[in-house]
Amino acid sequence: MTPALDNTPVLVVGAGIMGTGIAQVAAQAGHPVMLYDARPNAARTAKSNLETTFKKLVEKKKFTTASAAQTLAQIDPIDNLDAAASAGLVIEAIVEDIEAKRGLLQQLEVIVADDCLLATNTSSISISALANGLAHPERVVGMHFFNPVPLMQLVEVVSGMQTDPAIADAIFRLSRSWGKIPVHARSTPGFIVNRIARPFYAETLALLQEQASTPAVLDACLRAAGFRMGPCELMDLIGHDTNLTVTRSVYEANFFDKRFVPSLLQQSLVDSGLLGRKTGRGFYQYPNPAATTSFTRLDFLPAHSQLWVHGNCAVSAHIARSLDAHDCRYQHITDSDWSGLQVDEAQLRLTDGRPAAQLGRHVAVFDLPLSGQNGSELAWSHAGSADPIWSAAAGDWLAIFGFNAQRIADTPGLVVARTVAMLINEAADAVQQGVCSEADANTAMKLGVNYPAGPFEWLDAWSSAAVIALIDSLDDYYRGERYRVSPWLRQHAWRQT
Ligand code: NAD
Repeated sequence: MTPALDNTPVLVVGAGIMGTGIAQVAAQAGHPVMLYDARPNAARTAKSNLETTFKKLVEKKKFTTASAAQTLAQIDPIDNLDAAASAGLVIEAIVEDIEAKRGLLQQLEVIVADDCLLATNTSSISISALANGLAHPERVVGMHFFNPVPLMQLVEVVSGMQTDPAIADAIFRLSRSWGKIPVHARSTPGFIVNRIARPFYAETLALLQEQASTPAVLDACLRAAGFRMGPCELMDLIGHDTNLTVTRSVYEANFFDKRFVPSLLQQSLVDSGLLGRKTGRGFYQYPNPAATTSFTRLDFLPAHSQLWVHGNCAVSAHIARSLDAHDCRYQHITDSDWSGLQVDEAQLRLTDGRPAAQLGRHVAVFDLPLSGQNGSELAWSHAGSADPIWSAAAGDWLAIFGFNAQRIADTPGLVVARTVAMLINEAADAVQQGVCSEADANTAMKLGVNYPAGPFEWLDAWSSAAVIALIDSLDDYYRGERYRVSPWLRQHAWRQT
């Protein structure tokens, strides 16, 4: 079956936040839309909310009065599911409950035409499980929109075990014709975005749990790397209850794989009712969360006799340029096995995943600087036994290089390096397991959660050997199942040598 969906009547079931947005987008694309909700009057209320939205859009000149009226006229709130008989596509956006969704699909199956497609906007339930028991499981497909639907471009088109590939392709093309950017995903826990994003929260929660630093510093370091929000402020926005539920569902659906284990800190926040913005307190207090960090530029170089720049990467080139700008003499050892600055016998090294204590008392380590912006926060650390003169000077050298240096406890992989490495690793596993392609993982993470780059773009800019070394160091340090290098990454590294 290769259905033609152009201008087909669409039935949206569930007139909540998502269903209303989906109805709007389908109507804007020219489809006659029926909107149904089990709550009496909910569909009519949703339409009158859309009328208010369109009034504002007309005032802002995003729509003409005529096109707004035309779009609204396409949306028909209905009181009875029997009208589903005329639909070419049903998109369900009801409560996230497997029994409720299954019951609805079974009810719809006896009403709709044989060639009608059944799409679900579920964010976490297996498409294969939803299709199980239906007479035609091959026509059930995930059509996972992001909130707010009219603004977010990404749609994950999710195929279950029995989904007909031609139907997934038809939904993919339809999403594109609605102005969306679709990606294909295989139905596995979290699909693409909610799976690959887990380490963004998990690494910060792990650092907080071992008291490596504060939420404000960790957020600032990750914002400096280009993420629009830090993990703590983002979790406060999402709500710790919601975030814990997603984390738990991915953990349980992966048969309690320790890589996805929820954090005790997250559980404590939920237990205490500190759910984030909606309760006025989470990691931060609202409406005025604490100010973050400030940057003081240094104009003079710390005392030194001799300087060496080590390495042949963007970071060493940046250090060399900063020293040149200070008319400073140095030697450049391009074939060194580490990157950074050597000041007499002391070393300031770009993290390779080993904590400073493992490298010695004359070594300080700094985080991966992903953005070249002046004054960006950058984590660094040194061993507890470090030479005190060097430990004071190491932060000053980072300020000379234009970073707002943030000292954190001596933890492997610091903040950005370990987070980005684990995001890459998760994406690599998703590709290894046939969940998505590399290109679709990049697209999904940039559009679904606004990441500054896709995981495989970071990998191209870094190196698989460095990412593997970093995760292996985390594994050496923590022991356990969490820091497991994806087989895809090891294969990728071998292919490159
Ligand atoms: P919501 O609570 O705003 O709306 C759900 C609506 O479904 C309600 O109006 C409810 O009355 C109705 N409903 C419940 N059971 C029904 C049934 N059996 N038949 C008809 N209507 C029924 O929820 P939402 O945030 O719009 O989420 C809907 C779906 O979209 C869920 O599966 C959710 O996981 C998914 N989703 C949500 C988001 C998000 O950010 N909110 C993002 C992506 C996907």
